[in-house]
Amino acid sequence: MNADCLFCKIIDQKIPSEKVYEDKEVYAFKDIHPKAPFHILIVPRTHIDSLAKIDEKNITLLNPIFLAATKIAKQEGFLEKGFRTVFNCNREGGQLVYHLHLHLLAGKQLGGAMGA
Ligand code: AMP
Ligand code: ZN
Repeated sequence: MNADCLFCKIIDQKIPSEKVYEDKEVYAFKDIHPKAPFHILIVPRTHIDSLAKIDEKNITLLNPIFLAATKIAKQEGFLEKGFRTVFNCNREGGQLVYHLHLHLLAGKQLGGAMGA
């Protein structure tokens, strides 16, 4: 728990969110400014700033995030139709909130421009 972190506060229920899924390792909730009909953020319960902080010791934090992504896609009926997952990393990657999070977008034909 990082006292200044928005997503730590969301995990702790100090700030409200629309929960979509949770388990021992991760918490997933609706993005407040959705870019697709279904747009959620999957965050590890352990605070880590960004993908840039992943190393040999903490790489295992990523497994439950991707497992949650496929479980949620199945739960919401997007597994076969398809979905997109995105990590924005640091300033030029467009990261605004510095608690690692995986965006999961679905529910329409998503545009092909990765850099847009
Ligand atoms: P990023 O640019 O990858 O750091 O994405 C941060 C995301 O968090 C953005 O898509 C925001 O819309 C979303 N966001 C910011 N504050 C909240 C909040 N209180 N509840 C849900 N999503 C939020
Ligand atoms: Zn945090």
